[in-house]
Amino acid sequence: MSLANKLAEERRARLAAERLLEQKQAELHAANRKLGKHARALSHEIHETRAEVQTVRDENLRVKSDLTEAHQKVEIAERRLWHSIQTIEDGFAFFDADSRMIAANDAWLAVFEGVEAVQPGVSYIEILQIITEEGIINIGEMAPARWREQMLDRWQSPAPEPEVLRLWNDHYIRLSDRRGHGGDVVSLVQNITATIRYEKELKEARRRAETANRAKSTFLANMSHEIRTPMNGVVGMADLLMDSDLSEEQRLYASTIKHSGEALLVIINDVLDYSKIEAEKLILHEAPFDLERCIHELVTLMQANARDKGLDLLVDYDLFLPTRFVGDPGRIRQILTNLLGNAIKFTETGHVLIRVTGVPPAADDAATIHVSIEDTGIGIPPDKVDHIFGEFNQVEGDRNRKFEGTGLGLAISRKLIKMMHGDIWVDSTPGEGSSFGISLTLPVAAPEDTADPVLPRPAARALIVEPQTASRDILERQLVALGLTAVSCASGAEALTLARPEIDIVLCDHNMAGMDGLELAEALREAGHTMPIVLLSQNTGYAEQDPGRAHVQAVLQKPAPRRALIDTLATMLPPDSDAPQARRVMRVLAAEDNKTNRLVFSKMLTGLDIELQFAQNGREAVEVFHSFRPDMIFMDISMPEMDGKEATRTIRAAEDPGAHVPIVAMTAHAMQGDEADILAAGLDHYLTKPLRKADIIARIIAACPPDARAPEPAATTAQAG
Ligand code: ADP
Repeated sequence: MSLANKLAEERRARLAAERLLEQKQAELHAANRKLGKHARALSHEIHETRAEVQTVRDENLRVKSDLTEAHQKVEIAERRLWHSIQTIEDGFAFFDADSRMIAANDAWLAVFEGVEAVQPGVSYIEILQIITEEGIINIGEMAPARWREQMLDRWQSPAPEPEVLRLWNDHYIRLSDRRGHGGDVVSLVQNITATIRYEKELKEARRRAETANRAKSTFLANMSHEIRTPMNGVVGMADLLMDSDLSEEQRLYASTIKHSGEALLVIINDVLDYSKIEAEKLILHEAPFDLERCIHELVTLMQANARDKGLDLLVDYDLFLPTRFVGDPGRIRQILTNLLGNAIKFTETGHVLIRVTGVPPAADDAATIHVSIEDTGIGIPPDKVDHIFGEFNQVEGDRNRKFEGTGLGLAISRKLIKMMHGDIWVDSTPGEGSSFGISLTLPVAAPEDTADPVLPRPAARALIVEPQTASRDILERQLVALGLTAVSCASGAEALTLARPEIDIVLCDHNMAGMDGLELAEALREAGHTMPIVLLSQNTGYAEQDPGRAHVQAVLQKPAPRRALIDTLATMLPPDSDAPQARRVMRVLAAEDNKTNRLVFSKMLTGLDIELQFAQNGREAVEVFHSFRPDMIFMDISMPEMDGKEATRTIRAAEDPGAHVPIVAMTAHAMQGDEADILAAGLDHYLTKPLRKADIIARIIAACPPDARAPEPAATTAQAG
């Protein structure tokens, strides 16, 4: 190779080498730059990481101290909790899901009296075993295995019922176990010995109180019996004394004796009834009864009081409502007596109206009846309306008592009504009057087995003379319902202008201003009128003695019971023109061993159109029953030889089927149980001594059979004028 070539070649190689070098240098430079950049980034990163590490380290330290603090807190809380658990008097233990004890406080462990095996770790089954082996719990007659089984069943149930256990030392504990989170059980033991003892003491105290209460009831029964028997003599004889010839002064004394005696009996009865209801000793005696008759009997009884004050007593019994119901007639009568008595007591002028309405029986044969007793009296201030139904509560305070009374009447009535599932309320406007209402739902009873009343000749024309609007309306409606046509007026003078021969009958009020009923009758006769005249009087006795009585054909007690009115009209307006049938006299038998009481009884009935026979004991009563065939019997209960109950049973057994002679008990007993006993013996009614004339007469009138003459001549008998 030439030199030149060699040189060229060398140059080329050098150039190549230089280029390579340059290239490598550039690469190196680039790499250096990259490296620098990396190094920078890296150092930044290192810096950051270092900072982070520091933060984490700081955090760690803090968490560590927090944790220690938390641990300390937990420990304190746990200590406090345990301390509390130890302090409470009740036993407290935890068990895990396998029924092993985790912990128990001293009170819980104390039950085991230091048996060492009972400690954390012990199982519930072992505990039960220890209990039966050591006799810690008094399990009575039960076999230990059986007891353990029962306790274990209980323990394993999802929600064990609390259990009371008796310890060997007669202490009582109540065990309450609660299953919690993850199957843990918390077991609580309370010592309830004090409670159990207290309960026992209470039971004992209650037993003693009940014994005392029974003793009190017996005492009351005896007392009432002891008081009633002589009171029968006092009140009865005073009554008779007043019928005899007395000077004004003597009459005042006699009437004071009678009224004081009666007032005393009212108080005794109220207190007795109230204590009976309180002791839940009062039982209702349900029987069929006639509500309308019951109300009229009541009105007859109260008439004298109302008349003395110049008040009108009115009865408005819904014509479409049945009259016979099943209920406790005695108690219903008692409620009505109280309401009616109050209405008369708290009314000075005007009237008292008893209104009976009702919802006629539905499919179940029970009717809801409303009885309202409306007065035109002093009324009750609105703020006292609730108060008066309370015990011993009256509108007036103790300081301004004007009216007699115990303040128990309405409380008793309310309780009785409640027992009958009824309601009682009052609406009142002071100065205008009050309206007491009761509502009762009672089964309707079958009609009585007496003959249907003979209805008066229909389409007859009646003239009603009655100043009192409410009374007039009631009478008018009754006559129209019976098929009569009625013309009404308010005074005698008007009646004289209305009277004409076509009028078949005149019904006039006795007590009218200007011209009274008897004067009107006389004037009608003078004017030549011959139609029958019926006088409605609040005081029939008084009317009977009036010379003007001769002008009227009948005197009716006012308000007239529907039945009495119908019977009278039937006699006055006979269905055919035949004379009314002659009726026989009613026969009454009274069995009474006490001579004084026989005298009082016969004196009370003087003037009645009845035939009265006495029997001196039960045996005689049975004999007289057969020979005399009485229409009704009054029967004393305690009599020698054969008592009244026995006699009644004998009579009932001998009676013809279908025949049923009403028997009314007369007794001084007034306590619960006696009544039930007496009625169970077959007696129908019950009168307590002292007997009241009006009660006896009301019973006789109620029992008068259709073929007998009305016992009270003034009441229903027509007398040819
Ligand atoms: P008593 O009549 O024996 O005082 P009650 O319990 O029967 O007891 O009545 C309580 C009170 O309610 C009466 O004292 C009276 O103040 C008031 N009262 C009851 N009925 C009426 C009435 N019809 N009019 C006005 N006040 C009445």
